[in-house]
Amino acid sequence: MAGAELIGREELAEIQELFSRDKVNLYRYGGGNYKAREFEEKFAAWIGVKYAHAVSSGTAAIHCALAGAGIGPGDEVITTAWTFIAPVEAISALGAVPIPVELDETYHLDPREVEKAITPATKAVVAIPMWASPKMDELAEICKKHDLILIEDAAQALGATYKGQKLGTFGSVASFSFDAGKTLHTGEGGIVVTNDKDIYDRAAEFSDHGHMHQPGLPRGKDPRRAKGLNLRISEVTAAIGLAQLAKIESILSTAKENKRKIKNAIRHLDNIILRPFSDEAGSQGDTLIFRVRNREAALQLEAHLTEHGFGTKILPEALDWHFAGVWGHLLGEYDRYHTADLESLWPKTGIMLRSSICLNIPVLMDDATIDNLVEAIISGAAKIG
Ligand SMILES: *Cc1c(COP(=O)(O)O)cnc(C)c1O
Repeated sequence: MAGAELIGREELAEIQELFSRDKVNLYRYGGGNYKAREFEEKFAAWIGVKYAHAVSSGTAAIHCALAGAGIGPGDEVITTAWTFIAPVEAISALGAVPIPVELDETYHLDPREVEKAITPATKAVVAIPMWASPKMDELAEICKKHDLILIEDAAQALGATYKGQKLGTFGSVASFSFDAGKTLHTGEGGIVVTNDKDIYDRAAEFSDHGHMHQPGLPRGKDPRRAKGLNLRISEVTAAIGLAQLAKIESILSTAKENKRKIKNAIRHLDNIILRPFSDEAGSQGDTLIFRVRNREAALQLEAHLTEHGFGTKILPEALDWHFAGVWGHLLGEYDRYHTADLESLWPKTGIMLRSSICLNIPVLMDDATIDNLVEAIISGAAKIG
């Protein structure tokens, strides 16, 4: 799990530095220190945007990004039927209506499905890159044509690019997560990035009860223009983030190299279908996804890999948290989904996900482990037919 594997002395040193100051302040506001500010500035510079606002989780980050972009009650927000549930929870928490649509062959928002789902109530499209890029040009074009806000929840795709440009810099605003399964790890944490000062201000206000952070005014006198929550990051978390960010280039290149070796060694298997990409060179190393014949074959291969000491990630074992077709507990709140057979709304996505396997690609993976994994995939593939 990338950054989580590398938590160590550098993170501790950042925390110690925080504690070495005359007056220790662990809170993002007041009392100085401001590791949070430094982390935001460095992250913004790395990704190449004007503004970054760090918050308490990736869920908080997409919540703030949506709020910052002005998403509110009744707005329809188109997103994919395959995502970790967080962005759909955030859309719902703002009173907006999530509209999941089917995947294309790259496991991303299908631009044609997006266009079909647009109504007069549609306000935004949330693209969710899964370790690689959706068809960003087409999505951007559709959003432009229909005057929709393009948002990226790039939690799974830190460092991935599309035609050389980093994901998270295409839409009006984007979010990232630093949970244990993501490229960088801070315990809990997330960040909103944008080039739009107004979205940045509104996202930051939303993360802090609506405080408008007016310079020269005491916090208690801050004016408000919209409601918010407390989704703030702490100084300790931001300190860890600084140490993690310093490792990002090596995390990205090592995972990518490990993934390249594994992929090249299984490319010849004709019952393992590697996914097609809109831009393979820009894809990221965290996770390898491929398809097999059907659900039974996927479960059989999963069991075979487990027997050989290799787990899967997200698919198939955590499908319930990554597919709109099983989210009656959330989508059931909406009239349009209340009585629907959810599974039947996204049949293509359901079939793709149920016949797919995702493998976590660790950073710390020696050649012997890579060989063992490759052998396990090859012997498993022979079994499933
Ligand atoms: C992990 C993830 C999130 C949520 O991040 P947390 O930090 O766990 O809250 C949001 N969106 C996507 C696409 C994710 O994969």
